[in-house]
Amino acid sequence: MRVLLVEDEPGISRLMRRGLEEAGYTVDTAADGLEGLRLAEENTYSIILLDIMLPKMDGWSVCENLRGQRNKTPIMMLTARDTTPDKIKGLDLGADDYLPKPFDFQELLARVRALVRRDKVNKVRIIRVGDLEIDTAQHRVRRGADDINLSHREYELLEALAAHESQVLSREAIQERVWMNEDSYSNTVDVYIRMLRKKIDANYEVKLIHTVHGVGYTLRLPDAQEA
Ligand code: CA
Repeated sequence: MRVLLVEDEPGISRLMRRGLEEAGYTVDTAADGLEGLRLAEENTYSIILLDIMLPKMDGWSVCENLRGQRNKTPIMMLTARDTTPDKIKGLDLGADDYLPKPFDFQELLARVRALVRRDKVNKVRIIRVGDLEIDTAQHRVRRGADDINLSHREYELLEALAAHESQVLSREAIQERVWMNEDSYSNTVDVYIRMLRKKIDANYEVKLIHTVHGVGYTLRLPDAQEA
């Protein structure tokens, strides 16, 4: 399980990292909000531990940004502030839990386990298309024996296609699902399809992502004559 820890105090970050790794987690760390946001966009995590007072971008803004992109990774806010308005603000912005510092590390671990478990219960589902396997709880993608690391957007795009296996999704439908109402360029979908193909299909004989000219895209095993 992979955890993103966004914390600017080097001592706390180091301690938490060690504790989490001892508990069996793989930990990525960021020391400011922008770096945290970038990592959260580029990778998929089981949970994000997010300090509030951070250089460059505070934890609230990071949380708001991620939720605005429909990133649903569980977020636990960590902060020295434990006043109720702060707590409500964090939860309003889409955080899942809130832990005031200083905290007991065992409590942190218990809450992390609870959040990850809750997230899994909400979406226990493995989607399989040929040798492609998408674990929608963990946001893990594999082809055969290979782990494939996707950015958040690439993952959302793949999940949208895979959830409608063999159906053709128009660019507009994809745009709406993955980018919602955000501004995006007219070729955004094509650009992301190209990036996704590089990771999902380029190195494999059987291609899964197909262009349906004039209509859109579909994810499926090729027909016998295409294979
Ligand atoms: Ca801080």
